Amino acid sequence: MSGVPGAENPMSSPLALHQQTLSELAAGLARRDFSSVELTQHFLDRIAHHDGTLNSFITVCAEQALAQAATADGARAAGTATPLTGIPLAQKDIFCTADVKTTCASKMLDNFIAPYNASVIEQFNAAGAVMLGKTNMDEFAMGSSNETSFYGGVKNPWDISKVPGGSSGGSAAAVAARLAPAATGTDTGGSIRQPASLCNLTGLKPTYGRVSRWGMIAFASSLDQAGPMAQTAEDAALMLNVMAGHDARDSTCINHPVPDYTATLNDSIAGLRIGLPKQYFGEGLDPAVASVITAAIAELEKLGATVVEIDLPTSDLAVPAYYVIAPAECSSNLSRFDGVRFGYRCENPKDLTDLYKRSRAEGFGAEVKRRIMVGTYALSAGYYDAYYVQAQKARRLIKDDFARAFEKCDVIAGPTAPDVAFGIGEKQADPIAMYLSDIYTIATNLAGLPGMSLPAGFAKKLPVGLQLVGNYWSEARLLNVAHRYQQVTGWHRELPADFS
Ligand code: GLN
Repeated sequence: MSGVPGAENPMSSPLALHQQTLSELAAGLARRDFSSVELTQHFLDRIAHHDGTLNSFITVCAEQALAQAATADGARAAGTATPLTGIPLAQKDIFCTADVKTTCASKMLDNFIAPYNASVIEQFNAAGAVMLGKTNMDEFAMGSSNETSFYGGVKNPWDISKVPGGSSGGSAAAVAARLAPAATGTDTGGSIRQPASLCNLTGLKPTYGRVSRWGMIAFASSLDQAGPMAQTAEDAALMLNVMAGHDARDSTCINHPVPDYTATLNDSIAGLRIGLPKQYFGEGLDPAVASVITAAIAELEKLGATVVEIDLPTSDLAVPAYYVIAPAECSSNLSRFDGVRFGYRCENPKDLTDLYKRSRAEGFGAEVKRRIMVGTYALSAGYYDAYYVQAQKARRLIKDDFARAFEKCDVIAGPTAPDVAFGIGEKQADPIAMYLSDIYTIATNLAGLPGMSLPAGFAKKLPVGLQLVGNYWSEARLLNVAHRYQQVTGWHRELPADFS
């Protein structure tokens, strides 16, 4: 773990291409150690070799990726390259891509080719990045295990009998197995951070409104946010530099200055006040995970941070409030999939009602239907005040809890997930047990705050993620804390044995 050359190393790296971080690969491209075509081919070969086992991609775009790589090499030769030019990335199959199908892992969209690129895709294209393919996920991003995909589940590279987490499980598995140096994810209730935790990655959910949602298929619009899933905080910073910023096409995307997220990575964290919510260390947290988290916090203290206990008294309202609000929003968002305009259409409909009914009954999977039913119920006349309005009030209390906590601390730390990766099939019959996987991540989405997960060690031979949550617009600070931690630890460098 020690002596790993950093991006600043002027010599060629002795590591294989897939063992290098995005920033090391960017440095290698800049030095002309290899071309983007060579790099892209290397990852395409790894996908061809390993993805039969993992199922982390829904679509691989070999031809298009190599063409993009050749264009990137041209830009490099012409002197117009930027940091991500020529870097191959995997994109979650929730972002609309012109010419490449966008399925959201649903039979409903199995045949859907969007007429345009999502803003996030446009941003990576403008930066000269290469798209290796579209990653598997839970259907319409609903899940915590990547078992609800129409294309089959994804396996965790650390133990292929375990889930990779969800809903961005394909992105997580692909990066963990180094089939891509980094990927995008989306996080409505934890879908970047929880799979990052289960797969030993650094994942960041930005402040709500930091990254454009335009062209990102909506699950729960007041909660959804896209972000990077990478090996290191430095890599996540490089990606966020490309993804963040105002977009007039998304009315909730906020016009707030975008700093260079790499500029403050090395700032000292002496004096940083870390808040530890007592509610995040109680019942339900696996003791082996708890001890990894305690050790990680001790490491941050060695770097000069101080620890204060904080209280988030309405924490236990987060899961119930989320499971009213997210289904309510999804029931509205998914009403557009009606078999008429795009997506799956049933065979031989008798009439229009039959067309709607059967297209939706046949096109959506069980979890999506469960959410649509819960959401429709919660929004219906007579129940709206009892459920939806109550949940919105709980949401406000949760937001106020965080506001009070941030008077006492700069960053909140705790576990990302209550346990390490669980077995495939283990929680499928029990939706409530599955919903509790996000018990520590969901409140952040309800409040709209930024949060990240970073590799903090292992329990039961599986990765454990440390969660950091900051105040609005504190992404640079979170990345700084994570980067300093990664300079004195090597967990993020650990690779699953069968994919090293
Ligand atoms: N696991 C949560 C859910 O199923 C969160 C999913 C997400 O963040 N997209 O709703």
